[in-house]
Amino acid sequence: MYRGGMGEHFHEGELIGVLTPEPIDRVLDYRAPEGGCWLGAFVEVPLGPRKVLGVVWGPGRGDFEASKIRAVSRVLDAAAMREELRVFLEKAGAYTLTPLSQMLRLASRVPGLSDPPSMRKIYRLGQGEPDRMTDARRRVIETLVEYGGLGFTLKELSDLAGVTSSVVKGLVAQGVVEEADTPRDAPYLPLDPDRAGKALTGDQAAAAEALRAGIRSGRYGTTLLKGVTGSGKTEVYLEAVAETLKQGRQALVLLPEIALTSEFLTRVEARFGAKPAEWHSGVTMTERRRAWKMIGQGEAQLVVGARSALFLPFRDLGLIVVDEEHDSSYKQEEGALYNARDMAVLRASLNEAQVVLASATPSLETWANAAAGKYARLDLTARFGEAVLPAMRAIDMRFEDLPGQAWISPALQSEVAARLRKGEQSLLFLNRRGFAPVTLCRACGAQVGCDHCDARMVEHRFQKRLVCHQCGETKPLPETCPACGVEGKMAAVGPGVERIAEEAARVFPDAKLAILSSDLFGSARALKAQIEEIAGGETDIIIGTQLVAKGHNFPRLTLVGVIDADLGLQGSDLRAAERTFQLMRQVSGRAGRADVPGVALLQTFQPEHPVIRAILSGDEEGFWRAEAAEREAAGMPPYGRLAGIIISADEAAAAFDLGTRLARNDGPIRDAGGIVYGPAPAPIARVRGRHRVRLLVKAPKGAALQGAIARWIAPVKTSAKLRLSVDIDPQSFY
Ligand code: ADP
Ligand code: ZN
Repeated sequence: MYRGGMGEHFHEGELIGVLTPEPIDRVLDYRAPEGGCWLGAFVEVPLGPRKVLGVVWGPGRGDFEASKIRAVSRVLDAAAMREELRVFLEKAGAYTLTPLSQMLRLASRVPGLSDPPSMRKIYRLGQGEPDRMTDARRRVIETLVEYGGLGFTLKELSDLAGVTSSVVKGLVAQGVVEEADTPRDAPYLPLDPDRAGKALTGDQAAAAEALRAGIRSGRYGTTLLKGVTGSGKTEVYLEAVAETLKQGRQALVLLPEIALTSEFLTRVEARFGAKPAEWHSGVTMTERRRAWKMIGQGEAQLVVGARSALFLPFRDLGLIVVDEEHDSSYKQEEGALYNARDMAVLRASLNEAQVVLASATPSLETWANAAAGKYARLDLTARFGEAVLPAMRAIDMRFEDLPGQAWISPALQSEVAARLRKGEQSLLFLNRRGFAPVTLCRACGAQVGCDHCDARMVEHRFQKRLVCHQCGETKPLPETCPACGVEGKMAAVGPGVERIAEEAARVFPDAKLAILSSDLFGSARALKAQIEEIAGGETDIIIGTQLVAKGHNFPRLTLVGVIDADLGLQGSDLRAAERTFQLMRQVSGRAGRADVPGVALLQTFQPEHPVIRAILSGDEEGFWRAEAAEREAAGMPPYGRLAGIIISADEAAAAFDLGTRLARNDGPIRDAGGIVYGPAPAPIARVRGRHRVRLLVKAPKGAALQGAIARWIAPVKTSAKLRLSVDIDPQSFY
């Protein structure tokens, strides 16, 4: 591992080590280019016939034939990668057993990094006087004066001043406004941390002060900020953001869902007077490039983003907020398998930064870390203002009289009808996309499966197609059974949200319905429009998947009906109980945010199930203690460690062979005190035409698990045909 203080410089011709994102498992030797280069510099280097991106990682190793070593082609126009980020990539890579080259890929995912700096026009106050003053002209001048010497793009300036661009152009002609060329990646408008936030309640103020003290300490620390939905967690952590900005450091807020960002951006703008930088898949290439550069130059004070924002080149990151920290989307399930929540803690600890983990229903891992004193914990127990938590009740489906092909019980129907009469909103929640999870032939009983996966095809009626939720493959609904050839006997079995919507339309023909499901929106913008329409109160009944559980505010919503509260309790997943508990509480938290109290009704066939009882009684700490005790007794996370090994191959036999060989040669794992289970076919044994086999490694909490796994799999030769990936702290067991 290379080390060295910030600012180490290599002279022209000196031997340096360059890390590239290419799949080569070492740092390569090059010679520093003309003018030399800094440690951490982004460079372009020749590799075979190509030129590739790289980062100067340290001095060269010198174990390569000197005459064959080539020079760096050029140094790119980007801030050098700081030591903190280099060490973070090394440690995160070592923890997740991900090659360093792949880690670098996460930290260099920015378009146009190797483009020369380009220019664009900006507009600022000039010396001239206008020939005559109009309202529009005055607004332009006032805007420019208000923001001091700052320059704007034509669009920014005309938007801010509320004029057409020709007004600005007219002022340019008279020299009142000056047009100048400036590097394309403009800095962000400054956020003002001194503007007053909302007046906080006692609980909120105490929590905010604790977080501010953490920031002021200038040291690492992690705090669980636990509070029911609507208790003001966001208001509180925005105070921590303000303190961070006052210290001149940068802040990052991670959100689990892009759809949540626009609401959050609006709140940031109201609080600090300008919008922060954004980083997620919905951001344009130009904006990504701008954000990446400005973050590196310290000219973006606050970044709002998805998990990949953790790998941005912050100049001085002082705070990371992980909102809805329990959310499973923080776990990246492809490529580098990392959990952004855990990596946030790692990055903060390397940078004397603070972490705030905010949630109404924290993960058991975080709950346990707080209980053990590793994390501080702050509780907001009351909802802000008049809003009270909804009453929760079970609807015992064993006693409800429902015809076939219907899922909204009479009890739930009458509650929805009552809301309709009062002009209030209801939410029908079912965590299943599409129309029906199963399509089967009533003649022969065959179910339609995916050609590439061992998964059933899900009917999506809006798209008029069957969709595989594993690989995304679609096909038309068959008229005749693919198995027996009988015509007209294909039937949809079971409900998805689309089917519940159809039923709701039948039962409440006059109600205005809206479906919220991630697959129904082509773009984040369309989804946002839909959410705003719902929040505006134009919808009577919302039918939604877990997309609605994530933090949206629907002030007129007073009833949540959970169609199938038992859904998550089946399956053998370690986290089934935890997930169900979190999801049910999150969804229920959607009701009664404003002045009218809400009700949550859970349709269940197992009202006596301990998880259902815990949800209904609201005894959270009791639930967590019981769940923790069970995991501890079983040596399961967070009281023990797990790692998944997923082998995939073109041929089932090849995958099993390798799995069996690993299981037999488990010495390194046993030496570390661990046990290997399997091989077993993965729950979905074939995905995208590849056969999958899993091994599970279980080890005591203190075991040196990564080192043992690395030694264990070192002899394995993988190829395009036979792949192996390691999932440390697996969240899903597919
Ligand atoms: P959470 O993040 O815990 O769900 P929020 O911070 O979003 O809660 O607060 C819920 C709503 O209550 C928001 O509209 C927020 O602006 C408002 N709110 C919370 N605390 C205050 C306060 N002290 N003064 C005014 N409004 C508040
Ligand atoms: Zn498939």
